[in-house]
Amino acid sequence: MNPKTGNGARDRLRIAIQKSGRLAEPARALLTACGLSWRESRDRLFCYGESLPVDLLLVRDDDIPGLIRDGVCDLGVVGRNVLLEQDIALKAGGGSEAFREWRPLGFGGCRLAIAVPETWAWQSQAQLAGTRLATSYPAILRQWLDGQGIAAEVVELSGSVEIAPRLGQADAICDLVSSGATLAANQLKPVMTLLESEAVLAGPSSATSGASGLDQATPRQPAFDGIWDDARAGLAELLLRRLDGVLRMRHSKLLMFQASREAIPSLLPLLPDAEAPTVMQIDGGDGLALQALCHGAVTWQRLEELKRAGARGLLVLPVEGMLA
Ligand code: ATP
Ligand code: ZN
Repeated sequence: MNPKTGNGARDRLRIAIQKSGRLAEPARALLTACGLSWRESRDRLFCYGESLPVDLLLVRDDDIPGLIRDGVCDLGVVGRNVLLEQDIALKAGGGSEAFREWRPLGFGGCRLAIAVPETWAWQSQAQLAGTRLATSYPAILRQWLDGQGIAAEVVELSGSVEIAPRLGQADAICDLVSSGATLAANQLKPVMTLLESEAVLAGPSSATSGASGLDQATPRQPAFDGIWDDARAGLAELLLRRLDGVLRMRHSKLLMFQASREAIPSLLPLLPDAEAPTVMQIDGGDGLALQALCHGAVTWQRLEELKRAGARGLLVLPVEGMLA
């Protein structure tokens, strides 16, 4: 650890997450799975890291990109939709890139879509020409409209976008959709997807954060050199390594079974996205015991296929963690 604390150097990493809302609990759960714990009281805005010098700032999601840009926070958990909207707006205002997505996190999934009244006979986006579109994502929508060469009016609303057509404020909308139930309740139907979104880990843009995944040979230590030359570089490195492990393990299973030696060639191709299995000889006979870490979905159907191909005593176990 760099003991230096003067000249803006910090010996703690600060992560902004949503205080309350859709991303608040999953963000905490993910960071907890990475081994972080905090001294906290729920109503406070700041959680002091106990297991590691990694603190949390609890804020509105819309504030997260700005907090990273201003260096108030080092990292943040925020929807890709919010990050992209503010990135486009920043650049449109003459600013340069200040933050970007470091990792997709696999929760908070939704899409930013254009929805029109159910009564419209939808054929193509050309129908949007000359319409008024209500949205809380004016920068993304404007960029998309310009890219498509569609001249339409963007009506910026901060909330309740889905009722804008009924109130006569707009003809159609551009809003986040997950199940589509809200749209249906407002007699709207989604017709175009502008962005597939989920929660992401956001950080300063100058990091060469492309070295993701445990299996990459690229040394990742230098990735943070240009951003932080204090203890935060090492902390971010540690956190990302754990995060990659947690994300990779989330859907992984350990598959154990027995089989005869002759069945192995037909069994191996059936293992879903598996790492090289461990093979052990069972005392006496030609029986083998195998265990394979599978990153693909281990479905019932796949287990039945394995059984038909000669696997016996199939056992599927969850994986809690992994350090390559
Ligand atoms: P805040 O008080 O922090 O500003 P908010 O009302 O803007 O909260 P939420 O509604 O909690 O935010 O949504 C946070 C994020 O959750 C969205 O930016 C988006 O990335 C994601 N999300 C997932 N599904 C949906 C959905 N159906 N509608 C809105 N956001 C969704
Ligand atoms: Zn918000």
